[in-house]
Amino acid sequence: MVFTKRDVVDIIEQNRDALSDELQNRAERQRRAVFGDSVYARGLIEFTSCCKNDCRYCGIRASNKNAVRYRLSLQQILECCETGHSLGFRTFVLQGGEDPGFSDAELCEAVSRIKERFPDTAVTLSVGERPRSVYRDFYSAGADRYLLRHETANEEHYAKLHPPQMSLKNRKRCLYDLKDIGFQVGAGFMVGSPYQTVYDLAEDIVFLEELDPHMVGIGPFVPHRDTEFKDFRRGSLNLTLVMLAITRLALPKVLLPATTALGTIAPDGRERGIRCGANVVMPNLSPLDVREAYSLYDGKICTGDEAAECIMCLKRRLESVGCRLDMSRGDSPVI
Ligand code: SAH
Repeated sequence: MVFTKRDVVDIIEQNRDALSDELQNRAERQRRAVFGDSVYARGLIEFTSCCKNDCRYCGIRASNKNAVRYRLSLQQILECCETGHSLGFRTFVLQGGEDPGFSDAELCEAVSRIKERFPDTAVTLSVGERPRSVYRDFYSAGADRYLLRHETANEEHYAKLHPPQMSLKNRKRCLYDLKDIGFQVGAGFMVGSPYQTVYDLAEDIVFLEELDPHMVGIGPFVPHRDTEFKDFRRGSLNLTLVMLAITRLALPKVLLPATTALGTIAPDGRERGIRCGANVVMPNLSPLDVREAYSLYDGKICTGDEAAECIMCLKRRLESVGCRLDMSRGDSPVI
């Protein structure tokens, strides 16, 4: 279904106090029509907390002197995959800051070693903005997917969240390049980020309709104590659920995670996200001793749980909403 900006604003207004059963049921029905009871698992490996960028909302921004910086070795990354693979994961997501200390060549090496050792898996990268030629190298090395949230599709709002060197134009350029190269691409945005209006959210949906990505990451903004946004309120659970439901209806076949941030702001946040059309979960495969250091926002959940425990817990949560944890690669149905 195609939504105009006006449609999105109206839906947000109608569901402002509480998400209506109607919207939730429509989104849930849409998910089931395309994916049945499957919710796909992705193993997340947060391989570096070093970042040269300075996004104003993010806990690992370059100017945060209190951030604990670490970088996993190739060996450690492969060990995370080994653990994940034996637990049944067939998708690994390598996410990190924009870390000049982990070169593009090393990243290509990491991707090709993972694909060599685990040929039945998909590899997703989430390492920010790069030139098109570098994205091409990542793709040639074997990376299948790329996550790069656009963060907000409104120029002025983008400028309020990011340092002057960053631009929405370049962010969009990256997303279109990635798509053009052949990646399964994920865009996305935070809900309730500082200065965001309902019109910005409407623009996010209209931009997604235009980009038509394979994946969309949506989570609430959660303040981080060491950023200038520390005193802003977190994004609301209700509004995040409304945006998930609208996204499911706008892009029926999209892969839509119930994010860790959603699970952070409410104990049953991820289950509720699933009921609003989400169909991906991303358990953490990072080594336990670095989980706290990969601190994008305060209060992040599951920093102390072994991956195996996370799987058991998620299985239970998914069953409670009539779904099943699907460990297969879970490629996009629209390649
Ligand atoms: N460096 C990579 C990965 C960024 S971290 C990149 O640029 O894509 C992944 C996502 O975490 C970001 O895209 C952002 O949307 C989200 N994030 C960062 N800080 C956050 C915060 N304070 N609250 C909620 N989400 C946040």
